[in-house]
Amino acid sequence: MPEIATIGARTGKYMDIPESSKGPAIDPAKGYRIQELGRGLYMVTENVYQAMFMVHDKGVVLADVPPPLAAYIPKAIREVTGKPVTHIIYSHAHADHIGAAGDLLATLPKKPVIIAHEETRAILARAADPRRPLPGVTFRDKYTLKVGGQRLELSYHGNGHEPGNIFIRAPEQRTLMVVDVIFPGWMPWRRLALAQDIPGYFAQVEKIKSMDFDWLVSGHVARAGTKADVVAQHEFLQDLKAAAGKALQTTALGEGMDGRDKSNPWAVFDNYIDRVAAQCVNTLTPKWASRLAAFDVYIWDQCFTMEQSLRLD
Ligand SMILES: [Zn+2]
Repeated sequence: MPEIATIGARTGKYMDIPESSKGPAIDPAKGYRIQELGRGLYMVTENVYQAMFMVHDKGVVLADVPPPLAAYIPKAIREVTGKPVTHIIYSHAHADHIGAAGDLLATLPKKPVIIAHEETRAILARAADPRRPLPGVTFRDKYTLKVGGQRLELSYHGNGHEPGNIFIRAPEQRTLMVVDVIFPGWMPWRRLALAQDIPGYFAQVEKIKSMDFDWLVSGHVARAGTKADVVAQHEFLQDLKAAAGKALQTTALGEGMDGRDKSNPWAVFDNYIDRVAAQCVNTLTPKWASRLAAFDVYIWDQCFTMEQSLRLD
């Protein structure tokens, strides 16, 4: 069995985080940092979540309002400009990325325009969550926001994470924001960041890899991403798919089981899948354990997710 603790088993100490996966230090007195990505475009982070804002002639466009950044976003904007928030873009419907929008809106004298994909609006309408007010502007394929001498291009490329998760591109600043798909320097969150459609998720990573940008705002981790981070994650995903595929082909059903359990198909299959996942983890560990932060935390989840998708999708 691999040395990495399986799902449900506690580990004494997780693997150390590689230096290349850490972000710039954060001033503890502030609790956050901002990073200028190009003319008037900024990322704000507390080194776990990321939001983005763009200053234009008449105000500020904010993309995402994660609750962990709720206290920091107004301060970060005021560090740069005294202009009001005129627009809020939702990357997608998940509460951990936009769940502070309602509270922020309550503090603003003039309500900003909220823009999101139409699937996001449908998800939010069902949720009826006052923390996540419904968008007033929605789109299906593409939407260009031209405001105060700045430009953002919004586009939809299908269900790579959840329906309605969009790409937000600032062409002049050579920056792309896509949330919960790429994790610069890190293992993706468990089960490929809870992707609802694994083939769709793989296709979206290909799409991001084919695009031209200098900075990627990924919604999580301690630093902005680059093309090299996307290439690395793409390579990891190809290795994951190959390792899980090989393990499915080379693992025998029922091997080593108590003969009395062979009439229990659930047990036979659970035993098979456990051994498939163990082979997958063992195949990937030598190459990736030191390259991706938190490899050990989620590699079992990724192998189980991958084998399931290969069998069923
Ligand atoms: Zn999400």
